[in-house]
Amino acid sequence: MNTECKACNERNEALAAGEELEDYRLDHTCGREWPRYVNVHEVGQAYGGSEEGSWWFDTGTPIESVRVDDWTELNATLVRLRVRYELDEDGNYTGEDDVQRRRGRTSCAGGYDIEISVQDKFAEAYPTERPRYE
Ligand SMILES: [Zn+2]
Repeated sequence: MNTECKACNERNEALAAGEELEDYRLDHTCGREWPRYVNVHEVGQAYGGSEEGSWWFDTGTPIESVRVDDWTELNATLVRLRVRYELDEDGNYTGEDDVQRRRGRTSCAGGYDIEISVQDKFAEAYPTERPRYE
């Protein structure tokens, strides 16, 4: 399926090839990607079950959601939120004061991460259903 928008074409080709593309990085001319939301989640882990010596799954709690309407706003918001939540460009905690964040979500002593993501909807809690062991 060909459209006027080069970014939509790239995305469709990638989907057809079974690849994943971060849609927000594509420069649409069709207006498809706006508005986007820069979402901040606190990510922890919850106990899933005892299979294979026990397994855990990620749980995200929304902290903040910022609507952005163009690239300038998107980039400025990412910079501002990374500073506020003390994250580097790879999403690593750069602060020292928060022991739980230094440990991270997989620590058995208890910890969590802050994650910033660009999505096409307002921040939501996840998962919406408790996952099952497969
Ligand atoms: Zn497009």
